[in-house]
Amino acid sequence: MARIVIAGGGIIGLFTAYFLKADGHKVVIIDSGYPGNNCSTGNAGMIVPSHVIPLAAPGVVAKGLKWMFSQKSPFALRLSLDPEWVRWGLLFIRSATRKNVDRSFMHLKDINLYSKQLYRSFISNHKEVDFHWEEKGLLMLYRSREGEKEESAAAKTAVSAGLEARVMGPGEIRKIEPGISDDVKGGVLYPGDAILSPDILTAFLYKHLQEKGVEIVRESEVTGFNVENDRVVSVFAGQNEFKCDYLVISAGASSSLLARKLSFRLPLMGGKGYSFMTRNTLDLKQPAILSERKVTVSPYSKNIRFGGTMEISGKATGTNMRRLEGITESLGLYYQGGEVIKTPSEEAVWSGLRPVSPDGLPYIGKSPVMENVLFGTGHSMMGISLAPATGRILSDIIGRGSADLDISLYSPGRFS
Ligand SMILES: Cc1cc2nc3c(=O)[nH]c(=O)nc-3n(C[C@H](O)[C@H](O)[C@H](O)COP(=O)(O)OP(=O)(O)OC[C@H]3O[C@@H](n4cnc5c(N)ncnc54)[C@H](O)[C@@H]3O)c2cc1C
Repeated sequence: MARIVIAGGGIIGLFTAYFLKADGHKVVIIDSGYPGNNCSTGNAGMIVPSHVIPLAAPGVVAKGLKWMFSQKSPFALRLSLDPEWVRWGLLFIRSATRKNVDRSFMHLKDINLYSKQLYRSFISNHKEVDFHWEEKGLLMLYRSREGEKEESAAAKTAVSAGLEARVMGPGEIRKIEPGISDDVKGGVLYPGDAILSPDILTAFLYKHLQEKGVEIVRESEVTGFNVENDRVVSVFAGQNEFKCDYLVISAGASSSLLARKLSFRLPLMGGKGYSFMTRNTLDLKQPAILSERKVTVSPYSKNIRFGGTMEISGKATGTNMRRLEGITESLGLYYQGGEVIKTPSEEAVWSGLRPVSPDGLPYIGKSPVMENVLFGTGHSMMGISLAPATGRILSDIIGRGSADLDISLYSPGRFS
């Protein structure tokens, strides 16, 4: 039995603790925040094996620059002279290539399917909780020729990876989502995708882990480490010191700050997004993404969550209400009567910083500089989808030195 400290109790830290504890280890999670105060709660809750194309793909840099000056755009690069930003930006430009897509998509499919399988077992092992888990698939809706081109190409890539993708016309779409507007040109349905409630999931894991004996130290920031012979032997948080055999860093967008304290540069930026929950007055049934606007639609029977925007902005906090207007304005374009959904007040808006790596792939595995330090971060738009896989992999590496999946592409040292 090893003593493991996990720095960061978002969904990655929670699922890592879940598997480590089940494997018989002694686990402490230290989090600078409190439950609900991170990126893992108010997100869209989509489990997306369909997302096999990483964020760093051809065309994305041009889009980011084009949208940079639009306050309502779904994607923006907020340029900065901060050396970390500049390094990240250069690596992002270098990675946004066909080659990056080609070498990644099969791996992303494998880890996504592995994770979905783990979710299925998790859900059936915890039948007492209603996670709002539904395997209804994900519908990518488009209104323009450009959207159609982009989504058809993405569907082709998914099919070549062995996934199911159905290109549908408006008539067929209406059979599963009658309320689409007349402007919707078509869509792609990925039947293998699923949805759950991230709030219920994280709240359950907090409670369950504590019941199982995981110590969760809240509102306590990890500030430093005691290193001996290239191994972290203890972790400092507040006035406390926690001895450990292994350290897992899963501190979301702040993971790079902790890496730096361990003499290691981990390129990572915060990608800000927003969401809000409201009554499902349009009676929408099908989880969807509005392709041209990158808006997520997550129906939970009587309630519904709308989300979107990816603003690569470092650690910037605050709410840009213009981006929320961009989200609500989209709804009338894709759904009949969607214009009745008004932009919520600032207090009702949730925001989260996705941990975004420059090549759009997560960091999962051992630190290149310290044998007993592991990273689980950089999951960008797929942290909920990939959390069970990441937790299982990290627990396997600690327990038996290897994982069931080839994780070489996710090496935290790949930019060193
Ligand atoms: C609008 C939006 C919609 C999304 N929709 C989806 C979706 O549908 N499907 C999907 O798969 N993903 C989605 N995502 C992405 C997903 O939410 C993230 O990838 C995921 O939550 C990241 O989890 P994490 O555990 O890495 O980070 P976080 O949830 O941010 O957790 C990191 C934790 O580390 C703690 N921490 C930071 N620094 C320290 C420190 N020094 N010491 C101790 N603790 C520290 C923080 O307090 C925090 O609790 C969405 C994101 C957004 C913004």
